[in-house]
Amino acid sequence: MTGLLTNGTFFFPGPTEVRPEVLRAMTLPMIPHRGPQFESVFARLTASLQLVFATSRPVYVCSSSATGLMEGAIRCAPAGRVLSLVNGAFSARFAAAARACERDMDVLEVPWGEAVDPDVVRSKLASTQYAAVTVVHSETSTGALTDIRAVTAAAHEHGAVCLVDSVTGIGAAELLFDAWGLDFVLTGSQKALALPPGLAFAVASAEFVQGARAQRDRGLYFDVVEFDAYAAKNQTPNTPAIPLFFAADLQLAAIVAETVQVRWARHAAMAQRTYEWVDALRSRHGDALHVLAPEGRRTPSVTTITLPTSLTAGKVLRAVSERGYTIGSGYGKNKETTVRIGHMGDHTMEGLERCLAACDAAFDALIV
Ligand SMILES: *Cc1c(COP(=O)(O)O)cnc(C)c1O
Repeated sequence: MTGLLTNGTFFFPGPTEVRPEVLRAMTLPMIPHRGPQFESVFARLTASLQLVFATSRPVYVCSSSATGLMEGAIRCAPAGRVLSLVNGAFSARFAAAARACERDMDVLEVPWGEAVDPDVVRSKLASTQYAAVTVVHSETSTGALTDIRAVTAAAHEHGAVCLVDSVTGIGAAELLFDAWGLDFVLTGSQKALALPPGLAFAVASAEFVQGARAQRDRGLYFDVVEFDAYAAKNQTPNTPAIPLFFAADLQLAAIVAETVQVRWARHAAMAQRTYEWVDALRSRHGDALHVLAPEGRRTPSVTTITLPTSLTAGKVLRAVSERGYTIGSGYGKNKETTVRIGHMGDHTMEGLERCLAACDAAFDALIV
């Protein structure tokens, strides 16, 4: 098993590296989930999550992966047509969820790598009546960051709600739920929050929950009305993944101690350092090698690097792995033509420097 110990070498864009003490918290004995001990864990955890989402609304904790809450968001959204903004693989999944829930829907395609332009959304919304818009804050497949405050404002101008996937945004990139007037934001445990996979978190505005009550086919497991009622009692609607709650309780306390603002700044600094490294690498590998997302539209949590045609993701990953580090291949249609460095979660600048040194040596060894 020792070969599997990561110790700052796992720069995968999700799941991300989890600190050993957070992993150990999952071995605590079980407690009843209807009782004061669990309720105090829930209360502490969700109070910390409120600081992370910058909200005074309750934060729902769901024992599922993030996709579950994408489906929940769709099913609880007001009746009517859905507009899905698609600029990568995860925003395509959000669109797929709307389709699978049999919503009347349209897709607004944006080239992979680019962020969604709020003005383009605005003109689309002016042409057709929509009840809800789906958007991904930080597109983990391409590394693009969309201005969800502006997209939500555009949706509101046209009477639609905005459903936001911030799975690699929350904890890494600024997001102010209350101040930005957002409707629904979801995230997952295994990305910038540096927890094991298996929990998903969401915040819904009071108006969104009120609107959901009028929706007849909300289903059961991902129903925000249920989450809202149980959160008021510091409970979950059904048996939660208690070991993951223990891990989250410990990790969120550490995030609050760091402060979410410092965490955002740490992610921004790691991302900036990665762009500088890519620029330096270009001087040796040619201009075809570049950061996929345009400057100013990049997520601080993951950098997607387009490879020159002489390289494949498989070759790069192997060479990096031989030097002790794990990074990600591309995702979806960019699987072999890009690689992704996940500089999110609890990684430090010192750890990133070591990872980039290993990547540097790997790339140079591959020059033909
Ligand atoms: C990882 C990820 C998801 C999917 O999360 P699951 O936990 O696998 O369901 C959705 N959206 C984005 C942006 C992601 O990075």
